[in-house]
Order: sequence, then C-alpha cells, then structure tokens
Amino acid sequence: MKRVLITGAAGFLGSHLCDRFIKEGYYVIAMDNLITGDLKNIEHLSTNQNFEFINHDVSEHIEIEGELDYILHFASPASPIDYVKIPIHTLKVSSLGTHNLLGLAKAKEARMLIASTSEVYGDPLVHPQTEEYYGNVNPIGPRGVYDEAKRFQEAITMAYHTYHGVETRIVRIFNTYGPRMRLNDGRVLPAFIGQALRGEDLTVFGEGNQTRSFCYVDDLIEGIYHLLLSDYELPVNIGNPDEITILDFAKEIIKLTGTTQKIIYKDLPVNDPMQRQPNIDKAKELLGWEPKVNRADGLKITYEYFKSLNQEELNKVEHKNFDEYVK
Ligand code: UDP
Repeated sequence: MKRVLITGAAGFLGSHLCDRFIKEGYYVIAMDNLITGDLKNIEHLSTNQNFEFINHDVSEHIEIEGELDYILHFASPASPIDYVKIPIHTLKVSSLGTHNLLGLAKAKEARMLIASTSEVYGDPLVHPQTEEYYGNVNPIGPRGVYDEAKRFQEAITMAYHTYHGVETRIVRIFNTYGPRMRLNDGRVLPAFIGQALRGEDLTVFGEGNQTRSFCYVDDLIEGIYHLLLSDYELPVNIGNPDEITILDFAKEIIKLTGTTQKIIYKDLPVNDPMQRQPNIDKAKELLGWEPKVNRADGLKITYEYFKSLNQEELNKVEHKNFDEYVK
C-alpha cells in the first residue's frame, strides 16, 4: 500500500485530496495545525483504518515514522484577508514548511508536489497567464507575504530537484471553489453566498470589472492527481479558463440564490489583480486533463453545501468588510 503525507489536510483542498487518495487505495497521513483548517472537513475519514491525523505545524521540524511515497504540501492560508491577519504564518508555512518537507522527501525518497498559485503571476501583464510568464508581484504589498512565499517555495523546490535529485511537481492553482470552503474566509464566492444567505447586500470591490476564472474543486483534484503521477517537474497551471468579471459573478450569485438584496460597491483592495485566466495548454498536452464541470453546475452544488450549514456557522463572520485589507 502506497503512503502519502498531505499537509493542510483539514482545509478545503487538503480534505478533498485526502478523500481522493483514500478512494485510490492509499494510506493517508493527514497533517494540519488547524489555524485555518477545520477537523470537520475530515471527520468522516477518522474511523478509516487507512487514515491518520497529526496535529502539527509544518514550519517546525517534522518526523514521520515509516516509508513515504508521496508528499503533497497544501498547508497555507489562502485568502487575502488571512494574509493580513496572519502574515508571518503565511510566510513561514510556504518557506520554512516547504524546506522541512523537502528535507523529509529527500530522507524518505518520496516524490513531493507543492501547491503553488496563480498569485506567482501577481497583477499579470500577460493574459491569459502561461507558465513562462514571470509575473508582476509587489513584494511589500498586502499580498506579498503569500505571493513571495509561494515564489520562494517554487525556487527551493526546483533547487532540491536539481541539487539533491528529489522528485518534485509544481501545480499553479487558479481560483477554485466548492464544498468545504470556509464561509467566512473573505474570498469572493463564500462572501457573496454568505451575504445572500444572511440577507445582506453583496459587496463588489472596485467597479467589479476585474476578472477571475473559477474552477470546480473536483476538476482541480483530478488535475493534481494526474500531475503527481506524471513525469513533468516544471510548473503546470491547473484551473478553468472560463473567465468572468466580478460584477457578472455577483449577478450570477443573485440569480442562483434568488436573493432580493442589491449589489453595493466598496474600495478595491490594494494590488488586487485586474485580470486572471489560466492558459491550460500544458495541462491538456501533458496530462490529457481539462475541466469538465461548468460554473452553473459547480455553483449549484456549492450553494447546496453552504445552505446546509447551521445558523451559528452562517453568522460567524469574521470579516464583514475589508477596511484593514484595503489600507
Ligand atoms: N471581491 C469582491 N467582494 C468580496 C470579496 C472579493 O468584489 O466580498 C473581489 C476581490 O476584490 C477580487 C475577487 O473578488 O477582485 C476575488 O477575490 P478573492 O478574495 O476570492 O481571491 P483572489 O483571486 O483575489 O485571490
């Protein structure tokens, strides 16, 4: 039985990865320090004999008993509002955490896949973004702690690959959505759906003409699984190229939820990328992968998930506005 270590396992993507690897017949070691993750995302796996959970911060030295075939590093805050709240943790998890995990991968002769991000492209001047584009990142802006840590993460991963011969994979993840996103993490989809469910107006930042391209979580996990098992060690974009403005997205959410609330406009946060769309030619060619779930279907499933949360969870809004983030 192959053994895989998944960090950030109690988070949105990490928990879906745990499900996938259990389904594929792996032994899964799930690691999380629960800063932004939630054990209820993996509760259903807790009695599975091929699953174990370790509460640990990957920025500290890591010890794992026994063999490891694969390591997937998915621990990190992933919302701009979190970067402002916990900037040092955000920096450490992708820098020190990645260093620790690469050391573990080297010692165990495991293959390691890191979760990189479209944020390495910053506020991109090339559109759509290909893997060859180097990006346009402000190192000292509010997103710098995430963007630069992820860029460092790619650099140290390639260094371990070329210098130590560690088998590595790098996925650059574009905006992804689906069940188990944190309702109160401040990101646009949970923000809009949460507002609709609580009967609040939907907050569009700026004029809403900035774009994003949203990928349903099952498609993303499928792409990551194929990348891990491929023999390609350079970065690969995984995302859905179906691009939409944030204003149109707000209108879609209004239609989906049937809310009678209106759209209100707030300041555009500093360094908010104006456009984002993955070029996925590489993933198509190398992995034979492309997204299958269209936004209408994915949003319906996600809305049902958020509707199923209880009132207490729904009202637990930490970030009613982004004033701090905008400064
Ligand atoms: N956004 C918005 N209203 C909100 C939350 C976010 O208009 O209540 C915008 C945000 O300014 C950005 C886009 O939605 O342009 C996506 O933001 P998100 O935080 O989801 O992730 P990002 O792609 O910026 O990392």
